[in-house]
Amino acid sequence: MKINRKVESIPPSGIRAFFELVLGMKDVISLGVGEPDFITPWGIRESAIYAIEEGYTSYTSNKGLRELRVDIARFLKQRYRIEYDPEEEILVTVGVSEAFDLAVRALVNPGDRVLVPSPCYVSYLPLVSLCGGYGVVVETRAKDGFKVRPKDIERSCDKNTRILVLNYPNNPTGASYSRKELNAIAKTAKANNLAVISDEIYGELTYDFTHTAFPSLSGMKERTVYLNGFSKAYAMTGWRIGYACGPKEVISAMTKIHQYSMLCAPVLGQIAAREAIKNGEKAIIDMKKEYRRRRGFVVHELNAMGLGCHVPAGAFYVFPSIKTTHSTSMNFARGLLKREKVAVVPGTAFGSSGEGYIRISYASSMENLKEAMSRIRNFLA
Ligand code: PLP
Repeated sequence: MKINRKVESIPPSGIRAFFELVLGMKDVISLGVGEPDFITPWGIRESAIYAIEEGYTSYTSNKGLRELRVDIARFLKQRYRIEYDPEEEILVTVGVSEAFDLAVRALVNPGDRVLVPSPCYVSYLPLVSLCGGYGVVVETRAKDGFKVRPKDIERSCDKNTRILVLNYPNNPTGASYSRKELNAIAKTAKANNLAVISDEIYGELTYDFTHTAFPSLSGMKERTVYLNGFSKAYAMTGWRIGYACGPKEVISAMTKIHQYSMLCAPVLGQIAAREAIKNGEKAIIDMKKEYRRRRGFVVHELNAMGLGCHVPAGAFYVFPSIKTTHSTSMNFARGLLKREKVAVVPGTAFGSSGEGYIRISYASSMENLKEAMSRIRNFLA
């Protein structure tokens, strides 16, 4: 059968391609995957068990359970002082993955340029190009802590540039922004009349300062589609629940696509998400404390080995430079896997500006991290 040309033109995920190599190898320590090593906290699992017992097995409203949308609205108001109407401005989705896809499909017309600061999460550019959009990479640099500079956004704009994608804390670099830095980005977005899709899935995993939600900045709510979800902070990747908030015409357009393609997010996931958002705070604090401890250890070890590594503000990744080894990211990651059985992701999986770096996830036990650091040390020697 003939495959759609756009689908043929997008590459498979660089992370998956690399992890094909890991399959079938024994005793590998994998610091490659982007998901918590914790299982979903018990209270959240229990709420879904009760829901099954009580027979919650049907579809929900296309937009998601009304009670969950109300909980999300309450959470965002308390945490970030942003008000969204649960009836018209919030859509519950199958993870942030679906939410991002819907946002792009609802906003991008063929030929539109979409700015994507890079290194970036693997889905953004392929999903933009599937809609006929043109993803424009805005490179970020280690010397700026991998934060995008407003002047680079400005320089990348032309008359066809319509959207800016933000992701902070960032996957793969962990970079995040202060309110002041975000205000400067907001000013540039406004000056260039850009809509913003802000993927803040790691917002709750910010270690050194308070996370600022982009739509909470002055004048940004009306031009932002805010994305968040339960996968990372609550260790709920398999439940597949995310959400999008934004102006009602955008949420309505996204809901139209969602109702035809997905119908609704899974009901048990939505019930579990309600428990998470209402009572999951304590579990988040405990997991966050542990991630912070691991972050300190890994950053210290890598810098001591000569793999220069900034301290990431959030998420659970570090993005050290391997430039002193004069190896490409791919060769470094392949060699490390083959000789020392440690799996990390080559930086180039996140765009060409990731060359010279690797992504290490510290969502792994301290014991694994200690062993992995000692193996990396051997590899370098
Ligand atoms: N956005 C970013 C930046 C991610 O890192 C990930 C997963 O790794 C996702 C979205 C997808 O998350 P979800 O499980 O909610 O689909």
